[in-house]
Amino acid sequence: MRTFDYVRAADTREALRLLADDPDASCLAGGTTQLDLMKDGVLEPPTLIDITRLPLHGIERRGESLHVGALVTMEELAADRTVAERLPMVREALLLGASVQLRNMATIAGNLLQRTRCRYFRDPTVQACNKRAPGSGCSAVEGVARMHAVLGASERCIALHASDLAVALVALDALVHIQGLSERRTVPLTEFYLTADESPQHENVLEHAELITEVEIPLPPAAARSGYLKVRDRASYEFALTSAAVLLLMEGGEIRRARVGLGGVGTKPWRAYEAEHVLTGAPVTTATFTDAADATMRDAFTVPGTAFKVPLARRTLVRELQTVSGVTA
Ligand code: SF4
Repeated sequence: MRTFDYVRAADTREALRLLADDPDASCLAGGTTQLDLMKDGVLEPPTLIDITRLPLHGIERRGESLHVGALVTMEELAADRTVAERLPMVREALLLGASVQLRNMATIAGNLLQRTRCRYFRDPTVQACNKRAPGSGCSAVEGVARMHAVLGASERCIALHASDLAVALVALDALVHIQGLSERRTVPLTEFYLTADESPQHENVLEHAELITEVEIPLPPAAARSGYLKVRDRASYEFALTSAAVLLLMEGGEIRRARVGLGGVGTKPWRAYEAEHVLTGAPVTTATFTDAADATMRDAFTVPGTAFKVPLARRTLVRELQTVSGVTA
């Protein structure tokens, strides 16, 4: 039995002060990742700070942005009217991202901060894991790596970021609002995450004594079309082998604006700028889609267990571009 202290923060300031006072304390919200990792012995925080009473539960549309409190659940966001009407790929990513039981517990901030599912990271008896023990090596590179990453990966770490929601949000240029004890800051989600080849042990730019308070999602033009395709080994309750979040604004047979996120392939939710560059201004054809997919996967780092993901990710992106555009030729 591992013991820990439990403290319920009354407000955001108290939560931040408790975090600042204890460099090893962790926050508890939905608990769907945190408690798993504690049961597995991967995390052993001496103190859990319950933040579920903080006033971060609202969803509010302000002009052409949707402001989502950090403690909104996945199910609440999926049921929101603006999400249904203007952000279909967010809704699809949420519904495909977890079972209804998990969606009713898991929070939006928790989803964005979820830890990797790498089996070696989650097994404390495994010695070589640069994410748990920097400098110790990576067991996955020569191990079982079917559910690992090929973009932003290297011999140091190939851990996959498993969030579906984050893939849709990076494609939409979402912003993360962060509160510290003395200052607030806003970070584009595309700059929030670090790749594993940069620093396996640091996954994002959030400091210990900071909290995500809100996620801001700019609403795309009403004429834009979007969707999320998730390819997985079974039809529910499974992480992505590959996925693609696509938003297209088309006019006269040409792509005016393209936004592309990829999941199941990156050590962070992957914004496919190379694909967007190929797509923007190009004719709406399958040949364009294929060029975009090829450009995205050109610098993939593969190990024997992940090599299949490169052609699968290409096909996933081409298929979703066809679906969203309605063009298959
Ligand atoms: Fe650890 Fe990353 Fe290697 Fe998994 S892939 S064993 S998390 S270093």
